[in-house]
Amino acid sequence: MQRTSFWLAFAAIAAVSFGANGSASASAIKQTKGDFEDKFRQLDEVLPTPNVYRSAAGEPGEQYWQQQADYQINVRLDEEKRRIDAKETIGYQNNSPYTLKYIWIQLDQNIFRNDSRAERSATFGSHPDTDLRGIDKPARISLGELRRQQFMTDNELGFAINNVENGEGQSLSFTIVGTNMRVDLAEPLAPGARTSLAIDFGFNIVEEDAVGARSGYEHFPDDAREGGNDIFLLAQWYPRVAAFTDYEAWTNKEFLGRGEFTMEFGDFEVNIDVPADHIVSATGVLQNPKQVLSKEQQRRLEKAKTADRPVFVVTEEEALENEKEGTSKRKVWRFAAENVRDFAWASSRKFMWDAKGYQQGGDVQPLVMAMSFFPKEGGDLWKKYSTESVIHTMEVYSRFSFDYPYPTSQSVNGPVGGMEYPMITFNGPRTELQEDGTRTYSLAEKRFLIGVVIHEIGHIYFPMIVNSDERQWTWMDEGLNSFLDGVAGREWDPSIPWGVEPRGIVDYMKSSVQVPIMTQSDSVLRLGPNAYSKPAAALNILREVILGRELFDFAFREYAQRWMFKRPTPADFFRTMEEASGVDLDWFWRGWFYSTDHVDISLDRVYKLRLDTQDPDIDWERRRQEQADKPVSFFVRRNEIEGRKTWVEMNPDVRDFYDENDRFTVTNKQRNAYQSFLEKLDPWERRVFDRAIAEDKNYYVLDFSNLGGLVMPILLQMTYADGTTEDYRIPAEIWRRNTKDVSKLIVTDKEVVSFAVDPNWETADVDIENNYYPRKIIPSRIEAYKSERGTDHISRDLMQEAKSKLKGDEDSDNDEN
Ligand SMILES: [Zn+2]
Repeated sequence: MQRTSFWLAFAAIAAVSFGANGSASASAIKQTKGDFEDKFRQLDEVLPTPNVYRSAAGEPGEQYWQQQADYQINVRLDEEKRRIDAKETIGYQNNSPYTLKYIWIQLDQNIFRNDSRAERSATFGSHPDTDLRGIDKPARISLGELRRQQFMTDNELGFAINNVENGEGQSLSFTIVGTNMRVDLAEPLAPGARTSLAIDFGFNIVEEDAVGARSGYEHFPDDAREGGNDIFLLAQWYPRVAAFTDYEAWTNKEFLGRGEFTMEFGDFEVNIDVPADHIVSATGVLQNPKQVLSKEQQRRLEKAKTADRPVFVVTEEEALENEKEGTSKRKVWRFAAENVRDFAWASSRKFMWDAKGYQQGGDVQPLVMAMSFFPKEGGDLWKKYSTESVIHTMEVYSRFSFDYPYPTSQSVNGPVGGMEYPMITFNGPRTELQEDGTRTYSLAEKRFLIGVVIHEIGHIYFPMIVNSDERQWTWMDEGLNSFLDGVAGREWDPSIPWGVEPRGIVDYMKSSVQVPIMTQSDSVLRLGPNAYSKPAAALNILREVILGRELFDFAFREYAQRWMFKRPTPADFFRTMEEASGVDLDWFWRGWFYSTDHVDISLDRVYKLRLDTQDPDIDWERRRQEQADKPVSFFVRRNEIEGRKTWVEMNPDVRDFYDENDRFTVTNKQRNAYQSFLEKLDPWERRVFDRAIAEDKNYYVLDFSNLGGLVMPILLQMTYADGTTEDYRIPAEIWRRNTKDVSKLIVTDKEVVSFAVDPNWETADVDIENNYYPRKIIPSRIEAYKSERGTDHISRDLMQEAKSKLKGDEDSDNDEN
């Protein structure tokens, strides 16, 4: 569309088309048949149909059910063989309306078998440790990957299932299918009935550093004790009943390593038999402190409940003493946990243990014991920050969800970088031993510790209590949790980059290697940005930009409370957030969760319009002035400079009417037309018209284009001629009839000198350079560089290199660098 015709068309609309919407988008006309994509189409046709188990509001339905699985486990750790052997009894309550002929059990340790589906389907070149570099360069494999392969070849891994029987001692047949096992029941299990299974099992524990798992042992060869010491982290360590759900029946999709798991809630009693000098941390509450702790240690644990700073229950001196020797004696640590969906534990003679009571108040769990277990390698970093970070997490997360419902909340240092289980988390950061015997840590390691503790403790809320299914939808726990750990993190120290700022995801958002967030975990490309930072940034934007904190926080808390100790699906989250906030968000879920569109709104043009008075004596004079303001033809200017006279100037005697009157000359015919225009206006039209003429406001029309595809609100900032600014927020619905180009009329009293879209980087707009009108010069850098000589074989000076002496044991300078 040409500028002039638009200008005139608009002026006509503004002056005479009373009652019409002045911002009616002229660009809507551009849309052609077949071109239209409805980004505001309601999601209900994509989401599962609401039913008695899950309501249309996103709440648990009136007949919502879930199974219960209770466990009694006796486990023995064989430190020398690095093996556990155990017997578990599972009480299984069928709360579903279906009769079950078999029960599926998860055997996640089987992923470490050489013939596992995960191992056999691993591809070369796609893993960071392997790299296929092309025909002219060697492929690469890391020593770590070679170590992993060697470890898996050398060790017999995976579960040994020795026996499965029911409560009556009757042997049950079972079939192992990869990381799952089907146990056939002697009698079908009717709705409402309960049965029990007893399983004898054992397995060799993997070395975490070798295989990169979520649990395993870590060896410390340099400890004083002969042969060194280990830290053992045990998770996914017992045959666990697979979840049986209303939305998927048995969740027996094979474990491929990434999509973690969902479980049933139940009560646990676990007796852990370990060397007597070990300290054990586990899900739940220690039941027999008198048998495993000294009197002094029990007294310290009591004192910790009301302490201002963490109190050592097992001191560094005691841990160092334990570390020196070892023992053949054994102790059994007894733990109990109620209403948890999993159980994990850690054991080592290297652990010191600090604790501090978190006085939460309320009826549910007024006192929570925050505790940390770590070796000397954790050093001051752990002493100062681990337990305090645990408490800070609960303070912030509870505000967004519900009171922390469990009696303990623990952070354990070991080989796992970061992993969560109910009431217990594994966190990896360490200090560095220096030559002078001190231990120091980098700023990065400090941030890692605080960040990972907040993140993993946060997972106790999502998904350990709000029990989403990570094997299917990783973002439901990682994304929600990354969003909240960012909130908690910024309340701890905003100078730390928490990785959830909208600006932080723009490179990912515009990259071609991505899939929608709503993709099953194992098929996701680039899990970090897909399941963590993109959904976290999206929720940040939803909170800060779309809904505002009040509506978002209310709806999010509603979601958390509705689904506490229950199983939400994505539809339940989407529906609850929309239903509780009262704001249609289907376009938001579509754009951010179901598509790979990105945000790129461009402010292409701005027109400044002035309302015509229709009075020819005023309007035509204005147009004459506009004409005069335009540059004169350069050809004519040069002629003037040369002193060239025109024919008309040289022949003044033949001038006529048109030399005295220009095309803007007003005639009475036009004046009469103006009078008759005024007379034909109804009284209200006349009042409106006169007022608009008198006010003579500034009319701006802004042309926006949506280059990224994702429809979003337009956060506009106007800077006036007097230097003041004003924000003008346009909701996303502006794109509802045309998702590609829209125009917006903005009327101001003061003159605007510039417009900016999203000047505070709130929307993850990937190209901010097209957000300004007028455009800005882009500041950047240029570096001078020195050319390098080639380093290939024929460029080497072999004659000189051949003179190098062979290095012996004694140091000699290497002259080839
Ligand atoms: Zn996580």
